[in-house]
Amino acid sequence: MQQMPRWDAMTWPEIQTLLAKNPLVVLATGSIEQHGPHLPLATDVLIPTGLADRTAGKLREEERRRTVLLPPLAYTYAPESNGWPGTLNLDGETLTRVAADLARELARMGVAEVLLLNGHMESPPFLWEGMRLGRDSHTRIRMVNWWDLVPASVLAAQFDDASPGWTVEHAGPVETSVLWALYPSQVRKDCLPDDPAPGRPPYRKIPLEPESLPPSGSFAPTGTASADIGDALCEAVVGQLCRLTREVL
Ligand SMILES: [Zn+2]
Repeated sequence: MQQMPRWDAMTWPEIQTLLAKNPLVVLATGSIEQHGPHLPLATDVLIPTGLADRTAGKLREEERRRTVLLPPLAYTYAPESNGWPGTLNLDGETLTRVAADLARELARMGVAEVLLLNGHMESPPFLWEGMRLGRDSHTRIRMVNWWDLVPASVLAAQFDDASPGWTVEHAGPVETSVLWALYPSQVRKDCLPDDPAPGRPPYRKIPLEPESLPPSGSFAPTGTASADIGDALCEAVVGQLCRLTREVL
């Protein structure tokens, strides 16, 4: 698979050359969080990383050379998954500071165009506030959740109008399909969970009641997931990311 150039694989003279081209600097943000018995803890990092690489593969060479992917921000904020082994969190205040420091460091490099490609639902308010605090007046920050780039019509067509919906899409059929398309070996196909989607109240509650969450950690049945569905969803997202990248460049 074609990759987006990696910031951390470059030397300082290569970074210097890149920065002179006013590149789009992409930060994949995710979580280290349980994703059921069938998906790895890094699922929310892997999906935006894979989507960035697929996007790079669709760009013209001279466009691709003006994009760069930072090391991902994996540790974020996923307390809803604290009831399962493996989840590792920063608290919201720390995450805000980390995002602010990153924005400040990118501004110090003279980076003007930043895109946060986010794969995890709970952290955007902290990421956004940190970026707002840390940027300088020359930095333009954009943030997009990859699932917001999936048109409702595409989702309905792929799941025959039976998608369980985004509020229960944690390690459910959509995430499973997308990871399956991007990184097939990462999906444990012999462990696909089939818990019924829990009814979720229209409010949040502390403390969280563990019995309100499915024991598998997957919030919706995954029996309909497939790599083909994932490919169709990725194509829709990548098309929009290509347009966004070209607008910025
Ligand atoms: Zn996820």
